Amino acid sequence: METIKTKSCDEELDPSLFRPDFPILRKVLRDGIPLVYLDNAATTQRPRQVIAAIVDIYEHHYSNVHRGIHTLADETTELYEGARDRVREFLNAAEREEIVFTAGATAGINLVARAWGDANLRPGDEILLTEMEHHSNMVPWYQLAERTGAVVRHLPLTDDGRLDLSALPHMLTEKTKILAVTAVSNVLGTINPVQDLIPAAHAVGAKVLVDGAQSVPHHRTDVQRLDADFLVFSGHKMLGPTGVGVLYGKREILEAMPPFLGGGSMIHEVTLDGFVPGDLPARFEAGTPPIVGAIGLGAAIDYLTSVGLSRIESHERRLTQKLYVALAEIEGVRILGTEPSLRGGIVSFVLNDLHAQDLAHLLDRYGVAVRAGHHCAMPLHRRYGVPTSARASFYLYNTSEDIDHLIDAILRARRLAHRK
Ligand code: PLP
Repeated sequence: METIKTKSCDEELDPSLFRPDFPILRKVLRDGIPLVYLDNAATTQRPRQVIAAIVDIYEHHYSNVHRGIHTLADETTELYEGARDRVREFLNAAEREEIVFTAGATAGINLVARAWGDANLRPGDEILLTEMEHHSNMVPWYQLAERTGAVVRHLPLTDDGRLDLSALPHMLTEKTKILAVTAVSNVLGTINPVQDLIPAAHAVGAKVLVDGAQSVPHHRTDVQRLDADFLVFSGHKMLGPTGVGVLYGKREILEAMPPFLGGGSMIHEVTLDGFVPGDLPARFEAGTPPIVGAIGLGAAIDYLTSVGLSRIESHERRLTQKLYVALAEIEGVRILGTEPSLRGGIVSFVLNDLHAQDLAHLLDRYGVAVRAGHHCAMPLHRRYGVPTSARASFYLYNTSEDIDHLIDAILRARRLAHRK
């Protein structure tokens, strides 16, 4: 593993120190325009150190895990299980058995909805979501409700993009069996008070699933302090590879859950009459797991840890503040959601005279990559009366100049659109 340029924890993050680690950021688009990558909430880029870890495993260690008794199988198993230890430490989980590798956040939520949900929900039980959830944290619960006769409810939002906590006392009741909530909205950037919601849910006997897809990459997460029952996230949103994610679950809850997918690795024994499921975490990792993905995720965690999550968070906050102020000065811009101090590094907005998709196309001409659309959050967009929005989202390698580029590109895009 190559060394990473670390600085003291208190020192402001200087993205220019890290940008050389990300080869793709040197990409020059048509007509010599440099890439300005502001689509990090969709997926982040990878540093050389993560790419090198992936190449290294394929070139020097690759085999299947937990099966072979040859050297390569041992080496790969050690690296794969080492990655689990890195994740455990990163989340401050009590035990490595509480870390299940999945294909991503979506897969983790579906696993819980199927395995825990099917076993625990009865007709009339309630599943509490919020109106700001990503479709990944809505659809699996709708499907669970269809299978079980449970009822899905949604905590409403305030006009300025926060959870309306005044509705909590009548929505979170003894009927609620699970609260599934995102820690950070992928559209509004709102940082939700999950540390308060979790004890409130536990007080009525409900379990809590935290969707950490937009929080774990950017903010320090301590699952023991949070006391969440489940937490999910994806590797590709935190410098890691695609195809890998994590489900954290408290041991006693995971242990009581029947397996979801059946297949190799997840069993103790199979006979012609049936099977005996294996121990944690293997019982939820049927088939060949995302071996290289998990090892790459371990390398991404090493990278993030050496940079320091609190520095990344402060850096993103500064960028968010700057973009918020600059956007607010442009006539006809509406920023969705709350003030910058209550949000992570995500800013979604609409222009009064240019459709978000058209804007994104035009921004691309100037090298600026943003996301446009409903961002897999149609109910949220409906709540705010817009079908779609444009979204800029940051990570540690984004600079203050990236925001200047974005603002300049928005102004140019607008002029161009109106000249037609
Ligand atoms: N939850 C949130 C808040 C997200 O932003 C996303 C992806 O954008 C997901 C869940 C789903 O993540 P994945 O597609 O990696 O499974």
